[in-house]
Amino acid sequence: LRCFSQFPLSVPINLPNGLEYEQPTGLFINNKFVPSQQHKTFEVINPSTEEEICHVHEGREDDVDIAVDAADKAFTNGSWSTIEPAERGQALYRLADYIEKDADIFASIETLDNGKAISNSKIDVQLVINYLRYCAGAAGKFDGRLIDTGKTHFSYTRKEPLGVCGQIIPWNFPLLMWSWKIGPALAAGNTVVLKTAESTPLSALYACKYVARAGFPPGVVNIVSGFGKIVGEALSVHPKVKKIAFTGSTATGIHIYQNAASTLKKVTLELGGKSPNIVFADADMAATVQNIIMGIYFNAGEVCSAGSRVYVEESAYDSLVDQFVKASESLKVGDPFDETTFQGAQTSQNQLSKILGYVDIGKKEGATLLSGGERVGDKGFFVRPTIFGDVKESMRIVKEEIFGPVVTVTKFKTLDEVVDLANDSQYGLAAGIHTTNINNAIKVSDRLKAGTVWINTYNDFHHAVPFGGFNASGIGREMGQEAFDSYSQVKAVRAKLQ
Ligand code: NAD
Repeated sequence: LRCFSQFPLSVPINLPNGLEYEQPTGLFINNKFVPSQQHKTFEVINPSTEEEICHVHEGREDDVDIAVDAADKAFTNGSWSTIEPAERGQALYRLADYIEKDADIFASIETLDNGKAISNSKIDVQLVINYLRYCAGAAGKFDGRLIDTGKTHFSYTRKEPLGVCGQIIPWNFPLLMWSWKIGPALAAGNTVVLKTAESTPLSALYACKYVARAGFPPGVVNIVSGFGKIVGEALSVHPKVKKIAFTGSTATGIHIYQNAASTLKKVTLELGGKSPNIVFADADMAATVQNIIMGIYFNAGEVCSAGSRVYVEESAYDSLVDQFVKASESLKVGDPFDETTFQGAQTSQNQLSKILGYVDIGKKEGATLLSGGERVGDKGFFVRPTIFGDVKESMRIVKEEIFGPVVTVTKFKTLDEVVDLANDSQYGLAAGIHTTNINNAIKVSDRLKAGTVWINTYNDFHHAVPFGGFNASGIGREMGQEAFDSYSQVKAVRAKLQ
């Protein structure tokens, strides 16, 4: 930590792909980039080189108070919450347009800060644009209901925003998670104070450059960069914050849920997973291998819905595993700015150590390492796509979320057996089924305890389709109509007619 005066509110950045831009580094409050009250900053590291990118200003409790007050004032003065809803949509459309015009810089920031392959970052930025436009379109459609209660009364409902929403996001999809949080909250008329993850604050700050230009009044969108135990904690207990939306680990989610209970905040939690990916012998094997790869290695495995437990019907097991290992070993791991790279760096030293730690655990538990299992190079947090066979369901590598490119493969004999295996988890975020038998696909999907079931595809997101978890994978849904419902409350009005 160093005194902020050494650090300006923005710094020029030369990106490895030759692009240049000015990175805002302040907190974003009331449509302005400002220094933190205590004049602290923290360092942001490039995970591909382990070198410093820049420092950003670090918020503390007093900054959270200022940001929440700004958001509360913006909510109560009605400049956003009670305007014609379609005007809110117009601001969201303009924000999406600005991001689209600047898509190359946004994708490059994401790759610089998170380490993900540039091809992944480009997908993220497109998903952000699509989602903001979807939210923009929804803004004018928050209809209530007219309820027929007879001649004596006139009864109807209206959907109203909640107020100030505290939003805490992780580092695996920094800009996409920013959009999943702010999009529905703003469309519904709320104001937000968002905390980015401490390892990836840059893209959301850069996006704030466009917030005022897009027409959001001051105080509607605020960002307080900082650490979970300080800024996240302060947001989750703040009495003026009416809702907490969180994406991250199950342990932190439980803690936030407990914190939020003291002021009865609405809570949505999108947490961890250990998702099964089931392959029946009648599946199209070439397509299935690609789906398994997208399931576990997309975004370097740093995906909450990663298909990290692959179950293959016995008669197809040897051939599928053989093809999968060959395909894994052909994936290019390395420089994330190289357009042909499939897998970039893990986001942090912590994540790299955690992944390599699980590789050791898997070996000690007696699983067979079929591929990968080692760091790539000695600079940057790169790791080879890793496959374990001969696993037992009791092993930690089968039970615990690794959050990296590590997968287990297991044989099954019958449909009932694989449903039991798939459901034997504390989590329930997602699941995959690969088969050409529509009956089995539907029967199995009905029985899986998962918030999302992908059939003959995986990690295949769409902004109109809700996403969220069963059991320890969370509470509530993001995207789709469900996201808007979780950012509004119903008021029932019943008038007695004279
Ligand atoms: P985390 O859950 O601790 O962090 C996620 C966010 O929560 C960050 O912004 C962090 O600053 C904030 N946070 C941390 N402690 C907080 C607190 N006490 N109060 C409020 N906010 C707090 O996750 P992590 O430590 O970065 O990663 C650990 C593991 O979590 C990963 O290995 C992975 O298994 C899991 N994870 C899951 C997701 C997901 O998308 N579901 C995302 C990131 C990490």
